Amino acid sequence: MRLLILGPPGAGKGTQAARIAEQLGIPAISTGDIFRANIKNETELGLQVKEILASGGYVSDEVTNAIVADRLAQADCAGGFLLDGYPRTLAQVDALDGMLEGASLDRVLELTVDEDAVVGRLLKRAETEGRSDDSEEVIRERMAIYHRETKPLSDTYRERGLLVEVDGLGEVDDVTTRILAALA
Ligand code: ADP
Repeated sequence: MRLLILGPPGAGKGTQAARIAEQLGIPAISTGDIFRANIKNETELGLQVKEILASGGYVSDEVTNAIVADRLAQADCAGGFLLDGYPRTLAQVDALDGMLEGASLDRVLELTVDEDAVVGRLLKRAETEGRSDDSEEVIRERMAIYHRETKPLSDTYRERGLLVEVDGLGEVDDVTTRILAALA
């Protein structure tokens, strides 16, 4: 299966992506995780994107598309994949279409959540994980950018008949069950 998971920051995409991918035997690919790993290892890419992530902005489409193209070309993606955090802009949608070379996505999952609840969740995560982009100011900025740049992707995929909306609020296990039911 070739899947995407969409949703605002803090919707629980990463947690659910890992579970769903494991269940389906496909790799979960998180662009946010790739960037964070590069920052941690102080690679050239990491140095390039560190400030951008800390400010809550988006890494350029050019850089992000190149990373995803590389990752999707690896052997473990031949049987499918679940992309988490990509595409995030309409230009990335076009780039992904190109990478798929005419192959279609199977589904695009959108985790829907109450945004006030999500801001609370992110602030809590800031305390436990210490992510540089989890301060309240940066969280608000990430939400604003999400609405401007990424939310429109839901319509694009809805028009293609691929969008499946799943309620992302509640227990982690319940959400996983809902997603798997929606994919069945
Ligand atoms: P969240 O969904 O909680 O905001 P992610 O781990 O998906 O967190 O992303 C963290 C950060 O990584 C983003 O705020 C952005 O700076 C960068 N990033 C991740 N994916 C992309 C992408 N597809 N395009 C541009 N920037 C990205």
